Amino acid sequence: MSDVVEVDVAIVGAGPVGGTLACLLAKRGARVAVIDRAALPPMEHPDFDGRAYAIAAGSKRVMEEAGLWNELPYPAGPIRDIRVTDGKVGRPASRLFLHFDSRDAGEDLEGEVFGWMIEARSLRMAINAALDRTDNLLVFAPAEAKVRRNDEHAEIDIAGGPTLRAALVIAAEGRQSPLRQAAGIRVTRLPYHQTGMVGSIVHEKPHNGSALEHFLPAGPFAQLPMEGIADAPNLSAFVWTERDEMAQRMMALSDEVFARELRRRMGDHLGEVKLIGRRWSYPLSLMHAERYHDTRLALAGDAAHGMHPIAGQGLNVGFRDVGALGRLIGDAIEAGEDVGSPALLRRYQAERRPDTTAMLAATDVIDRLFSNDNPALRLVRDVGIAAVHRMPRLKRMFMRQAMGVG
Ligand SMILES: Cc1cc2nc3c(=O)[nH]c(=O)nc-3n(C[C@H](O)[C@H](O)[C@H](O)COP(=O)(O)OP(=O)(O)OC[C@H]3O[C@@H](n4cnc5c(N)ncnc54)[C@H](O)[C@@H]3O)c2cc1C
Repeated sequence: MSDVVEVDVAIVGAGPVGGTLACLLAKRGARVAVIDRAALPPMEHPDFDGRAYAIAAGSKRVMEEAGLWNELPYPAGPIRDIRVTDGKVGRPASRLFLHFDSRDAGEDLEGEVFGWMIEARSLRMAINAALDRTDNLLVFAPAEAKVRRNDEHAEIDIAGGPTLRAALVIAAEGRQSPLRQAAGIRVTRLPYHQTGMVGSIVHEKPHNGSALEHFLPAGPFAQLPMEGIADAPNLSAFVWTERDEMAQRMMALSDEVFARELRRRMGDHLGEVKLIGRRWSYPLSLMHAERYHDTRLALAGDAAHGMHPIAGQGLNVGFRDVGALGRLIGDAIEAGEDVGSPALLRRYQAERRPDTTAMLAATDVIDRLFSNDNPALRLVRDVGIAAVHRMPRLKRMFMRQAMGVG
């Protein structure tokens, strides 16, 4: 049994959630192993992932605690204000719109912003560097893990490597999570029949930290301000949702025609628009695990939940799982307690599942209310938008929620 390696926690999946959690737990004194079936350096390639994340204040704190925030190779771009409009293609600037300016959120929040935009690639590079240099952290990638669990501990056979013995295994393997399936944890699924297209654009005029969420009948279109680079000082990310068939047609267009269609949805406020780099598309669906734990197993991030990107909350919710697990496990290590005990796992679920259920419901309702052209629903949302516009206190409350201080 000489090649059995004892750790406190084994994390399967070194994505944004698993990678961040590994760094955070190691900092809190846990002995951690992280296993990913894919090699990590290729994930830094510009063609690997086109997503950009809107990071809220709470997520920034988690990244700071994990030692990642100051390691981002490309600076995070602040989101200073958000314009929300409701319209039709070719007529983006509807008469009614909401303008949230972070400077109006309250004197106590002076200097604060709604959030920060970071490239998935930038986060990946920070995670890889931190995994490399952190003590008491073992990384196996690319590697297949075979997991056995019982009441006492979990054993993880690494193909071609050692066997790990851990008090707790964390499944952070993304939506398909084989560990969740092996544990027989059922999931609720709801396909949206929508596809999210993402990528980056350069534009003629500066965005000044302003984001646009434009609700269109087929799905929302978002322009998110990115920190510029030397060749492209005016840079934004876009998340453009369409019904599946229409998205397929859009993805088949040349870059020039795609950019023209994009501008019809976005409007003219940023002038001429050009695509930069490639574009990606993702089928959208809601997914929620009926429980977040099993014997010596916890689910985190997209392995536990997946939501519509309408509010850019997927990773933020995953980072809240990281924050909760980091605190519960870190405290247990300090107290010399079992980090995989049923009591700790129940506390984790009690803390995280209701919060995530609320976010899943909110993103689902917003998508249903806005992604259609029903005249009655259009009236309801226009009245809603007008009401929020006229009630500064309500508007301020929304802003503080978005800034993570509600
Ligand atoms: C179009 C779109 C736009 C989005 N925009 C935003 C946004 O603006 N803000 C935001 O907060 N969120 C956003 N999201 C959501 C966000 O991308 C996800 O929530 C996030 O990627 C989840 O991270 P994760 O680490 O849980 O899973 P993943 O990113 O899926 O990572 C899983 C990791 O596990 C590994 N793995 C898989 N299977 C195994 C296995 N069997 N063994 C070992 N390793 C395995 C994979 O190689 C990978 O490294 C968006 C999503 C989409 C689709």
